[in-house]
Amino acid sequence: MKNHEKPLEQATFAPESGDMPKEEFRRHGHALVDWIADYFENIEQFPVLSNNAPNDLKNALPTSAPEKGDDFDEVLKDVEKLILPAVTHWNHPNFHGLFSTSTSSVGIFGEMLSAAFDMKAMLWRTSPASTELEPVVLDWLRQMMNLSENFKGVIYDTASISTLHAIAMAREKLNLGIRENGMSGRADLPLLRVYCSEQTHNSIDKAVILLGLGQKSLVKIPTNNRFEMDVEKLREAIQDDKSKGHLPFCIIPTIGTTSSSSVDNVERVADICERNNLWLHVDTAYAGSAAIVPEFQHYFKGINRADSIVTNPHKWLFTPFDLSVLYVKDLDLLKQTFSLVAEYLKVSETVTNQMDYGIQLGRRFRSLKLWFVMRYFGQQGLIERIREHCRLARLFANWVDDSEDFEMLAPVPFALVCFRACPKNVEDLDSLNEKIMNEINASGEAYLSHTKLNGKFTLRLSVGSIRVEERHLRKVWDLLNKFNREIR
Ligand code: PLP
Repeated sequence: MKNHEKPLEQATFAPESGDMPKEEFRRHGHALVDWIADYFENIEQFPVLSNNAPNDLKNALPTSAPEKGDDFDEVLKDVEKLILPAVTHWNHPNFHGLFSTSTSSVGIFGEMLSAAFDMKAMLWRTSPASTELEPVVLDWLRQMMNLSENFKGVIYDTASISTLHAIAMAREKLNLGIRENGMSGRADLPLLRVYCSEQTHNSIDKAVILLGLGQKSLVKIPTNNRFEMDVEKLREAIQDDKSKGHLPFCIIPTIGTTSSSSVDNVERVADICERNNLWLHVDTAYAGSAAIVPEFQHYFKGINRADSIVTNPHKWLFTPFDLSVLYVKDLDLLKQTFSLVAEYLKVSETVTNQMDYGIQLGRRFRSLKLWFVMRYFGQQGLIERIREHCRLARLFANWVDDSEDFEMLAPVPFALVCFRACPKNVEDLDSLNEKIMNEINASGEAYLSHTKLNGKFTLRLSVGSIRVEERHLRKVWDLLNKFNREIR
């Protein structure tokens, strides 16, 4: 059968028009590593938040690609001229907003090499290195976090995706034939219920939306005055739902919530899960890294009773974004939930194929950068860094406590401080604190973000950069006091 197109004309381009010539690659590569080294050395000279206005970068760029290729030196010049001003410097030691996350230099080497290999981990044969390094590295991390050996880990990009997979597993375990028949148009299905606290990250809302459970399936349990899930209210909500014929199937407590880093009582939630045969998924995306520090182990009590756990080394283990870990006890159930093997992916060997454990077909070789980080810093090095961040956060909290003009608004279990200015004779403290935050952020010296706790505008200072030192916190404290005096 001859149904292919006629051969193309003889190629008009020269044979060297493949990749960048190797000498050029070497030259630019060395220059780029030098550029990154200089960037880290001088990072404090940059404003933490980009000073660009929306669309500044977009408007400065041509609307179509160059007809002929540019010299890479020109491209790098444009990085300095156009891209750099549009960068918010997450690696700046005074980035204290949201959660302060940063990459180590050695983590960048991991990204470089995995880009060089450009493996798509789907089948073992397409990516033996990724398939085999990932479980080893995740077992090292499991041991460091003191998790039971029943947990096996899988790497995804973000916690949102890890949690989506966990809830999908919990739903599959119900054996309601949802994988085959879906949920729509089925009168035989009760309303499925997932429980979390009011303080939970909205990745859980998104997961229930995406899984077709609907937002009304997610029950948000009120929290106590420490922003921890009220376990009595959880118990009542489950009973109430059962009495209405709904089907509770999953509870998601958080260790280290996003707003205030509060810690739900996983031990008590686990009791409820066991009594009611519910899936227990623990979200410790932020704080999970602190489980490697012996004196913080008590915050993780009960975690080994979970069915699944999410933790993000890209948040607080000095690993470049992105790398989230889902630990599950029943790896076979994860496979049962997601595996779907097309003819062109069938293989004869009996091996682990990473495509079977999630939505994606191919995955990036992410374990390499975590392996680099663990090898380079060692367990002790990582523990010391996280311990130091927690020390610095407590030190800052002490300054707040000792000041007449500021007050703490939440406990500090890890390295996040929630506080506000509260000078006497100022009525609208929300507005004052918002102004102080905006002034600090506009100064370029530091970045703070906010939340609302008990209805109060709350400043959040997160300590997590691998480059942060006590002097950086002192600088923020001085700025806070300065603007507090000036704005009043
Ligand atoms: N869970 C918690 C507790 C978080 O703090 C966050 C993000 O800050 C997430 C989940 C979502 O993380 P990701 O951006 O990796 O999806």
